[in-house]
Amino acid sequence: MRIYLNGKFVNSHEARVSVFDHGLLYGDGVFEGIRSYDGLVFKLREHIQRLYESAHTLMLKIPMEQAELVNVVKQTLRVNQLRNAYIRLVVTRGEGDLGLDPRKCGRPTVFVIADKIELYPKKLYEEGLALITVATQRNVPEALNPQIKSLNYLNNILAKIEAITAGYEEAIMLSPSGYVTECTGENLFIVKDKQLLTPPPYIGVLRGITRQAVMELGKELRLQVREELLTRHDLFNAQECFLTGTAAEIVPVVKIDGRAIGAGAPGAITKKLQRAFHQLTKTAGIRY
Ligand code: PMP
Repeated sequence: MRIYLNGKFVNSHEARVSVFDHGLLYGDGVFEGIRSYDGLVFKLREHIQRLYESAHTLMLKIPMEQAELVNVVKQTLRVNQLRNAYIRLVVTRGEGDLGLDPRKCGRPTVFVIADKIELYPKKLYEEGLALITVATQRNVPEALNPQIKSLNYLNNILAKIEAITAGYEEAIMLSPSGYVTECTGENLFIVKDKQLLTPPPYIGVLRGITRQAVMELGKELRLQVREELLTRHDLFNAQECFLTGTAAEIVPVVKIDGRAIGAGAPGAITKKLQRAFHQLTKTAGIRY
C-alpha cells in the first residue's frame, strides 16, 4: 500500500510521523473519512470543504489549495489501483515540542491513506441495530464544537466504551439538556408522519456529508425534511429511525433503550432512502 505523506508517496511501513507531532501528543489536527464507489469519489469537494473549515477554526493552515488536495486524494486512489475504497485524510499541527504552543510546530503533517473498504455485515442492514443512550454527554459547542472534525475523538470513544460495556454496538449521545445529538460516528434521523427529522447542528452534531445527502433525497421523496430538537420520547415514538455516515451509509435502528421503534424492523422509508442513496453513489462522485 502506498501512502501520501507530506508531498511524497511512500510504502506503508515507511509512513511514519514523529512522536513530537501534536496530532499524536494533543489530538491537534483534523481529518476526513471519504469513500469511493466503482471509481467515483463520493462528495469529495464537500469533504475537502469541511476539512478546510475545521482547520480554519483551529487556525491550522493546510499547506496547499483545496484543488491540489482533491488531486492528491484522486492520485492516492490511482496509485493503489482502488475502485471501491475508504480514504482517510489527515492534517495535523505537525512536529513541535512538549508544550501546547502551536507556534512551535513548523509545518503541518498531511497524509492520505486509501484502503479497501471494510463493509459492515449484511445482517446489520437486514435486521437493524439496537441502540442505548449513554451517560457521557456530547461535547458542548461552546467548549469543543462537534462540527469541527478534529483528531480529538475521546468524547466519542468514551460513549462507545459505555455502549460496548452495556452489550451494545453503538451509543446515542445527548446534549447537557437531554436533547438527542448523534451517535459516536454517525448522525441520527427519525421518520414520523411523512416527516424526516434530524437534530440541528447547534445542539452539538457533526454536519455529516451523508446526513446532507439524505436530507436532499428525503425532499425528493416528498418528505418534510427538518432539523428539529429531539428528545428520547421522540425517538421511542418514531415510526422509523436510522443512522447515517460515510462508512455505514444508512443503518436502520430497530430498538432504543429497550423500546421497539415502529414495528421493530427496518422501515419502508429507510429502505427507500437506502436504495436512493445507492443510486446517488453511482452518479454523484468525482472520477479518478
Ligand atoms: N458524526 C460523527 C461524530 C462522525 O464522526 C461522523 C463520521 N465521520 C458522522 C457523524 C457522519 O458524517 P459523514 O456522513 O460525513 O461521514
